[in-house]
Amino acid sequence: MSKFNNLKFQNESFPKTSDVLNNSPAYNEKKKADKINLIKKLLKEKDAKIIAHYYTHEDIQEVAELTGGNVSDSLEMAKFGASQSSKTLVVAGVRFMGETAKILNPEKKILMPTLDAECSLDLNCPAPELLKFRQRYPDRQLVVYANTSAEVKAMADWVVTSSIAVKLIEYLNKKNIKLIWAPDKHLGNYLNDKTNANMKLWNASCIVHEEFKATALIKLMKENKDAAVLVHPESPKEVVELADVVGSTSQLISACKNLPHNKMIVATDNRIFYKMKKAAPNKTLIEAPTGGKGATCISCAHCPWMAMNNLDNLIETLIDEKNEIIVDETIRKKAFISTNKMIDFAKTL
Ligand code: SF4
Repeated sequence: MSKFNNLKFQNESFPKTSDVLNNSPAYNEKKKADKINLIKKLLKEKDAKIIAHYYTHEDIQEVAELTGGNVSDSLEMAKFGASQSSKTLVVAGVRFMGETAKILNPEKKILMPTLDAECSLDLNCPAPELLKFRQRYPDRQLVVYANTSAEVKAMADWVVTSSIAVKLIEYLNKKNIKLIWAPDKHLGNYLNDKTNANMKLWNASCIVHEEFKATALIKLMKENKDAAVLVHPESPKEVVELADVVGSTSQLISACKNLPHNKMIVATDNRIFYKMKKAAPNKTLIEAPTGGKGATCISCAHCPWMAMNNLDNLIETLIDEKNEIIVDETIRKKAFISTNKMIDFAKTL
């Protein structure tokens, strides 16, 4: 395994989720209903649909569902956007998701509730640095996770989401294609272990999943012997090794529903509980621990950037049609090739 130790940002420099939430608007049920009604009206007026990620606030997920939009993982968000006839898509998530929507839908206006919603994987994988890493291995193809900028997707041979990553790497490995993987080192390690692909790995990580701790999880498992452990593969290897099910957000929601256990310990962003509770209303959901005794956490199992999406900035975006995602057309065309290959590959599964 070869890692590139040249990260631009340290985790300490990222926003803290508690600060973001403390500065977020709060509203009672009546105000929430008023806001949802206004959003419904604005979506009609603007011929727009909401595409929201599972990690956004429950209110955002609810309004997306109520208005014929979509709540899903990165792959399904991309596919849904491409299947819609509406002129405008409002992507409630983080910037790379808005860019992916633009890459696949150049004719549509892509808006986001905030353009400050970043991702630690994307921020720590700048295209010029990745190009230098790639140049070390001229005989290898580059596979990048969807959590990357349009520039990075434009230089990649393949884009992939966690829901189909094992299948794609297996497919390429069987063809004896040697690979570089970027940016998530934990997902890259997991894929190497699952497929023996021996990919060269970039060194970034997800600020949320990085914080799940194996020692504290083992203690929690001992206290809840009847619980199944569901883990997203962006988590550290020691945590992944404790899992009953390792999978993407959609796969973890399915596991929550289909496993016979009545209790689940879940190691991914805790906003996924909104959909898990809908899928399995009678099951008990427990957050996996993000630190040992006395430890501090930056994200505390909720992404600070996902937390920046709320009903107020969603309304402002719709009224002013602001926070539009713009992608340079030359970059977009190149990024379309690798991103669309992912969608085509997913159709074969
Ligand atoms: S949860 Fe992690 S991978 Fe997802 S957007 Fe936040 S920082 Fe990025």
